[in-house]
Amino acid sequence: MGGGAVAGSNHGGHGVIPGVRLVILGRQGAGKGTQCTRLARHYIVPHISTGDILRAAFKEGTDFGRKAQEYMSRGDLLPDDIIIGVVGERLVKDDTRTRGYILDGFPRTVGQAEALAELTSEAPIDLAIDLEVPEDIVLLRISNRRVCVDCGTNYSVQAPPRYDWICDVCGGDVVHREDDTPDAVRKRLDLYSKETEPLIAYFEQLRMLVGVDGIGSADEVTQRIVHAIESRGRGGVVG
Ligand code: AMP
Repeated sequence: MGGGAVAGSNHGGHGVIPGVRLVILGRQGAGKGTQCTRLARHYIVPHISTGDILRAAFKEGTDFGRKAQEYMSRGDLLPDDIIIGVVGERLVKDDTRTRGYILDGFPRTVGQAEALAELTSEAPIDLAIDLEVPEDIVLLRISNRRVCVDCGTNYSVQAPPRYDWICDVCGGDVVHREDDTPDAVRKRLDLYSKETEPLIAYFEQLRMLVGVDGIGSADEVTQRIVHAIESRGRGGVVG
């Protein structure tokens, strides 16, 4: 991959772990969670979702988790320094250092992106993918989406789990996310325009951005993203 040298580590004689360091941008409901899970399997790297980390902390009942939940239920962003600390701790772990990662939900502000650049100064990210889905479509998707409280697998009213809202992957309860209320969703979309959209220009300026059409089946979108990453790896089109 461009920029970094994660790619190509040998793995027990069973071929090569491709490895990649990616940031996935996109509105809530653009399919980031689904695509990040698929990409993490494809590239055999950890999927780091800040939303999942915060929800797990809340479920564990830590003080931090309870505080984070107050922000989440309102649809507000946590302060930059707090979330930067959370991601910083995760990025020093062995798996991310040796294999790479897929960052989902971070950075969400230019301040967070600048902190990420510092945190990764020795091994910068390869690419930021902007998963493009218009606002009217994400609104529809969010009202229909359901999520496993234990493992975070996404479902929808149109594509439910096999048995009575029990997760196919881990057996957890599949529910409507608490912060998917109309008010909180509206606030998150407004925050996305105000705080996160400027990141598109930020990564574009660094020639790290690739826009990918997020409309279509999960397979189609994954193929587009992988193609974008591989093209970039061969020194292909950027932006
Ligand atoms: P998500 O699952 O990515 O939609 O995140 C759920 C909620 O977690 C967001 O609405 C925020 O309250 C909080 N959150 C997740 N990532 C961040 C971040 N990078 N910066 C600030 N707050 C975040």
